[in-house]
Amino acid sequence: MPVDATLPYDDNNIFARILRGEIPCREVYRDAHALAFHDINPQAPTHILVIPTGAYVSWDDFSARGSEAEIAGFVRAVGEVARAAGMVEPGYRLLANIGPDSHQEVPHLHVHIFAGRPLGPMLAR
Ligand code: AMP
Repeated sequence: MPVDATLPYDDNNIFARILRGEIPCREVYRDAHALAFHDINPQAPTHILVIPTGAYVSWDDFSARGSEAEIAGFVRAVGEVARAAGMVEPGYRLLANIGPDSHQEVPHLHVHIFAGRPLGPMLAR
């Protein structure tokens, strides 16, 4: 069910529960500002989600309210995850859904990292 990214943050969304350790994940990276884990329903051979450790609904919310340190830390973490997984040379794709038209399903900011095969056109045609 797509979410309305303008709603207040829901402390019980699935990624908030993963951050609190209430639900397991296949973790690949964690630091003060970011957690990365494998998507439960991968859309590419490698499909990793990177989320900020702070409570932000979407990229819109994060870019408006996140501190400089949180934003820098998160952006660096996304790059670090991709470098550590050897994705830079063959290439990878980043994607973040924001709101209903994007079909965002989880109301905690997440950046998808897709890699592992030629990924084709940017959007379905
Ligand atoms: P989006 O449509 O951008 O909100 O994407 C949400 C993503 O979260 C989807 O790719 C789901 O497969 C993924 N997802 C949902 N629940 C979990 C979970 N418990 N662990 C890992 N990934 C999940």
